[in-house]
Amino acid sequence: MKAVVADITTLEVDAIVNAANASLLGGGGVDGAIHRAAGRELLAECRTLGGCATGEAKITKGYRLPARFVIHTVGPVWRGGRANEPALLRGCYLKSLEVALENGVRSIAFPSISTGVYGYPIELAAAVAVKAVREFLDGHPACGIEVTFCCFSAADHAIYSALLRA
Ligand code: ADP
Repeated sequence: MKAVVADITTLEVDAIVNAANASLLGGGGVDGAIHRAAGRELLAECRTLGGCATGEAKITKGYRLPARFVIHTVGPVWRGGRANEPALLRGCYLKSLEVALENGVRSIAFPSISTGVYGYPIELAAAVAVKAVREFLDGHPACGIEVTFCCFSAADHAIYSALLRA
């Protein structure tokens, strides 16, 4: 596991994860950036998927991205922390990794799911993210998946880096 500061659409990994909305038909933030970089064919494939529930994940091709796949997951909207947000966010990471494993993905990059428009506090979300990925990798010691946390700011990167050192 490592944390970098980057635009996730530029990363040369097998799969990037999209913090999508339930329609899977595009949005702002990282979702908009991924659709712009991948091209219209990504939206066409997403239209065939019938949306995605919060905490679940679905895979598409990456089209014009350097990444071969996009794994679309829907994070929870932050409602103060008592609406099952931690379990739903944990589900995003675990389901994305399961889908990655099923598709032979060996390297995957996650954005900081739910911490933009969806308002999940970054310190709390990053702790959920690192713990979920750590537990998945511990539970699948032979999977060989290299996980990158793709941060969009130095402040987010500092938070992830501290958790990865702990
Ligand atoms: P959500 O709706 O799940 O909160 P957002 O896209 O609003 O999703 O934000 C999720 C995170 O993705 C935020 O930390 C935001 O700064 C970051 N982000 C936005 N654009 C990019 C990008 N091109 N690459 C990586 N991260 C990005």
